[in-house]
Amino acid sequence: MPHRLGPMQTLPSPMRSFADSEVVDYCIVGVGSAGGVLAQRLARAGFRIVALEAGPFWDTEKDWVSDEKGSHELYWNDLRITGGTHPLALGENNSGKGVGGGSVHWAAFAPRFHPSDFRVYTEDGVGADWPISYWDLKPYYELLEREIPIAGPAWFPWGDPHGHPYGPHPLGGVGGILVRGCTKLGIRSVAGGPVAILSASHGDRPHCIYRGFCLQGCKVGAKASTLITHIPDAITHGAEIRAHSMAARVSLRSDGRTDGVVYIDREGREHFQRARAVIVAGYAIETPRLLLNSACPGHPHGLANSSGTLGKYLMAQAGNVIAGRFDELIRLYKAPPAHALSEEFYETDKSRDFARGFAIQTVGPLPVAFAKQMVAAMGAWGWGLRRVMMDYNHWATIGVLGEILPWADNRVELAEEKDQYGLPVAKVTFNLHDNDKKLIEFGKKKVMEVMWAAGAQQVVQESRFAHLVGAARMGSDPATSVVDKFGRTHDVSNLFVCDGSIMPTQGSANPGLTTQALAARTSDYLIEQGDAIFFSNRRDLTEPRIRYDLSPPYTRLKGNPRIA
Ligand SMILES: Cc1cc2nc3c(=O)[nH]c(=O)nc-3n(C[C@H](O)[C@H](O)[C@H](O)COP(=O)(O)OP(=O)(O)OC[C@H]3O[C@@H](n4cnc5c(N)ncnc54)[C@H](O)[C@@H]3O)c2cc1C
Ligand code: SF4
Repeated sequence: MPHRLGPMQTLPSPMRSFADSEVVDYCIVGVGSAGGVLAQRLARAGFRIVALEAGPFWDTEKDWVSDEKGSHELYWNDLRITGGTHPLALGENNSGKGVGGGSVHWAAFAPRFHPSDFRVYTEDGVGADWPISYWDLKPYYELLEREIPIAGPAWFPWGDPHGHPYGPHPLGGVGGILVRGCTKLGIRSVAGGPVAILSASHGDRPHCIYRGFCLQGCKVGAKASTLITHIPDAITHGAEIRAHSMAARVSLRSDGRTDGVVYIDREGREHFQRARAVIVAGYAIETPRLLLNSACPGHPHGLANSSGTLGKYLMAQAGNVIAGRFDELIRLYKAPPAHALSEEFYETDKSRDFARGFAIQTVGPLPVAFAKQMVAAMGAWGWGLRRVMMDYNHWATIGVLGEILPWADNRVELAEEKDQYGLPVAKVTFNLHDNDKKLIEFGKKKVMEVMWAAGAQQVVQESRFAHLVGAARMGSDPATSVVDKFGRTHDVSNLFVCDGSIMPTQGSANPGLTTQALAARTSDYLIEQGDAIFFSNRRDLTEPRIRYDLSPPYTRLKGNPRIA
């Protein structure tokens, strides 16, 4: 039986297999949003790649079910410790485990960051500036929008206005509420995307059939994940994706360069994969955890942590959900959860008493998630909860996606506790600061106004957080950051970090597209540098050539970006 990646897509076979003793060019840790793109680009450029993934290699026919409760194994459910004034819910609310990582269970909302997001300190005197500008990343946004590809409105008016390669999706019930409420209040909104879900068939992937199981992996194959968009091409070009392989530490030679990764297989056996360079792409919690667990002589506080910033400046976005009950039938599951939004409040407004802003977005919880939200929002329980759940089809849910600033006390450290591999687990501390609290309060009230304006008879809200990034941030100064503008660690010249953890600030756009765009940019840099990465400690910070020729097949110039 072929290993299936969708109704029509199968895993390229055979997959190349390297022995641990073989020295590969790059060992990538983590095959998620960033790791999948890195593996694909670098394999296509001819490098020898082993990508270690702690979770399974999903067979979408055998492993996935269109059932909310049955899909919880997609998440990183291993032990983590959470604390601080506003402890983050960990598990299903943040990262994935398995090939594709978080891109398997993301809602696939795919807006770009705004140009201002890269200059937050300069413009607003808070947070940090990125060492790159929006314009450095723009060509990679355009590339990934075609590769994934993104469906959305012909005119997206915020940030750097642009169009999308595939046409917008039809408006679902919740989208209709968002558009109606915003319109009544004179707030601009768009519908139908931007979302990494097919509005028309694409290669061996069918279009969306609007059944609402996007966060459960999408058995249809209409929703993009690197499992189906980039990994097949990586394997075709000789990469080995080694599942059930948990990286335990990055190894350092006496000359200060890494020579590979120690990992543990599903039977608990320890292995050492030799490599000429290592890229860590394990997500904003597991990346700092791995580097902290890689402390060694000369690096007693963790690898690549001479600045003391590794693990610090972790960010989550405010993700308050506002639920409104309507007389009309909404059926919030009958559409991709992500399909209408407004970024009208995204930028700093000097008339408000806080910096930065937020987006307003549709969300579409299935019944189990909705029940949890109602427990939190209304204290509903017992018969009261049953009563609310009988009304499930009459509720609409709209989220605030708010920018929380990077703070040093929001951080990942190592806990005393150990996981099933015997490795110290991550302890995540999260505190809200004054600016964050004011922003959340304003955003929450604004979305409630939208809900009332749309005609809701009852409005409740749940406070929550979404999308972790940061904790291994990029910067030009080795004293205040972990990696440089291409993801190379300041301390170890053949060790890179490339995932959401390198973001210095997060805007109020969902981070997945930006994470993949950063991975494509780092890949171009590594390709341009060639063997110099493997044999030299010299840092050449010249911008690389953009490798349009390395896109997966049939994606280059596909679709019709109606506004370039
Ligand atoms: C419910 C939900 C909905 C979301 N919706 C959206 C959305 O609509 N739009 C959006 O932009 N973003 C969304 N996100 C966020 C998005 O999924 C993440 O930002 C993105 O996937 C992060 O990419 P990454 O490469 O940093 O990490 P991941 O994609 O999480 O990949 C990390 C991979 O590394 C593996 N790994 C970690 N440690 C190790 C180790 N030691 N050894 C081996 N492997 C390891 C993990 O198993 C995982 O597969 C959502 C997230 C959640 C939880
Ligand atoms: S709504 Fe579309 S993208 Fe979501 S699970 Fe169904 S087919 Fe997939």
